[in-house]
Amino acid sequence: MNPVSESWEAWERCLGKSSIIVEKAALANYEANASGISHTVAGVLRPRDTAEVQEVVRIAAAHRQTLHPISRGHNWGYGSRLPCERTGAVLLDLSRMGRIRNADAVSTSSPVAEIEPGVTQGQMADWIRDRELPLFLNVTGAGRATSLLGNSLERGVGYFGLRTSDLTDLEVVLGTGELLRTGPGALAPQAKSQFHYPYALGPSLDGLFYQSNLGVVTAAGFRLRHRRPCHATLLIRLRDTSAFAAYIDALGDLGRQGLVECVLHVGSPSRIRATLSPLVYRTLLTQGRSPGAALRTEVESLVAREFRETWTAVGPLFGTAKQVAAAHEAIHARMQALADVELLRDDAAAGASDPLTKAMLDPLVDLCHGNPTDGALDSPLWSVGLDPLKNPAEIDQTSAGIRFCSAALPLDGEIVAWAIAKEESVLKPFGFEANITLNLIDEKSALLITNFAFDKTQPTQASRAQHAVEAVFSAWETEKVYPYRLGVGEAGCFKPTPTFCRSLADLKQSFDPHNVFSGNKYAFSDRSHA
Ligand SMILES: Cc1cc2nc3c(=O)[nH]c(=O)nc-3n(C[C@H](O)[C@H](O)[C@H](O)COP(=O)(O)OP(=O)(O)OC[C@H]3O[C@@H](n4cnc5c(N)ncnc54)[C@H](O)[C@@H]3O)c2cc1C
Repeated sequence: MNPVSESWEAWERCLGKSSIIVEKAALANYEANASGISHTVAGVLRPRDTAEVQEVVRIAAAHRQTLHPISRGHNWGYGSRLPCERTGAVLLDLSRMGRIRNADAVSTSSPVAEIEPGVTQGQMADWIRDRELPLFLNVTGAGRATSLLGNSLERGVGYFGLRTSDLTDLEVVLGTGELLRTGPGALAPQAKSQFHYPYALGPSLDGLFYQSNLGVVTAAGFRLRHRRPCHATLLIRLRDTSAFAAYIDALGDLGRQGLVECVLHVGSPSRIRATLSPLVYRTLLTQGRSPGAALRTEVESLVAREFRETWTAVGPLFGTAKQVAAAHEAIHARMQALADVELLRDDAAAGASDPLTKAMLDPLVDLCHGNPTDGALDSPLWSVGLDPLKNPAEIDQTSAGIRFCSAALPLDGEIVAWAIAKEESVLKPFGFEANITLNLIDEKSALLITNFAFDKTQPTQASRAQHAVEAVFSAWETEKVYPYRLGVGEAGCFKPTPTFCRSLADLKQSFDPHNVFSGNKYAFSDRSHA
């Protein structure tokens, strides 16, 4: 019997037929992706617990099959659920593993939830609310259905920090099927300091499993944050575009002076238009207006008028009422020469009398309060002229395409302005509009996150999108600017030094000797690349 059918038989014995997907139509659903990339998968395995994952991996190792793990698979703009391999890889869909394992132990003095890969942002926020815990989570703008674990492992960015700072105590299935625990659990199961103190003894192995193909993470501690008496939403709008570099430097100062403890999200005018317009459009539809081009035009001019289309920084401000008021005053003083500062206190959006203003502000206020929202998910559809979806998380199934180019930069206004100008000049000949968000993640670094939308059902557009991303990366590499994260289409675009690659290859040999885990977007750890 050939090894491929032997492995499927073994997986079926292990998981049962209902946990395996091989029918073409069902696989097409998994292959659909917002990036306009055509890869096929050999099948999908849907284990329910860690023991099943271990067995699945052992079978893959024995039969030399390649697995690509996904938590929820909503990696929109970076390849969605696709593996790097063009064909032949098997998806390890972990979405059924959706438990918060230590539910009874989570409290203000132990604010770390042990989550499995299927736990979503929405699930976690609802769980906290239902238990009336005075805690909240570091949310991303990627919608309620996205995972905490997959996003964190990709080094995703939330409104309160890089998600890497939220994960601890990883439970990892290695390519041999063995189970590794990092953090104090490496010393003994249920060590007293587990989920409190992040380390065991000696070197920390956690970092090896981020953007990595060395193992499958089947659970981890996810840090929750303490609510403060006062939570508010900051909006800082640049007045004059020619002062952009000074504006970024001044925003950087807010972190450097300890006035904000968050990731300021600085949106470009086009990003703001693409995000807010569909929110207003949805509201007008519920008021009985007819969909179509006329309404779209009306909405875009309304957003431009009401929200002032200009670079706008959004971020949470929280503390005691006195701390928030003092920080607001100091922020106003630092920014007033360059920008208008507005502070929306607690339920400002809920209190807004105009439903259109409320539609625009609600998602921003939600994010700044740690409540995940689907508010941003209509933007790729809006950019290609599509109406919003009933379920915004079904982007993959539409004709809307979206690709991200995401670079890590120093938080320096001149450098950021230069990088944006460079990127826009590369994208322009391709005919794509750059929707930019600058994430000021701490007092010294900024992530330049650019997306552009296209109609992925048009083959010429999909291939132009691919060439555009490659052109941006190539222009950046010439200048020694590097991405913070890659999509499936960009697999292997960048290569670190030979010593770095060799060290990773050695680790790969040790953690995954049979090359079970997918080729990886960050392909430099594969032995063939070393
Ligand atoms: C409008 C819009 C807004 C967005 N906003 C944000 C944002 O604010 N911040 C942000 O970070 N992203 C954002 N994204 C990008 C993306 O949608 C999110 O990062 C999303 O959370 C990723 O999907 P997921 O959580 O389901 O992860 P998955 O798709 O499940 O995982 C991502 C990758 O991580 C690896 N992986 C997943 N699970 C495991 C595991 N258990 N073990 C080992 N490796 C694993 C795999 O390589 C996988 O491909 C946005 C996208 C759009 C379209």
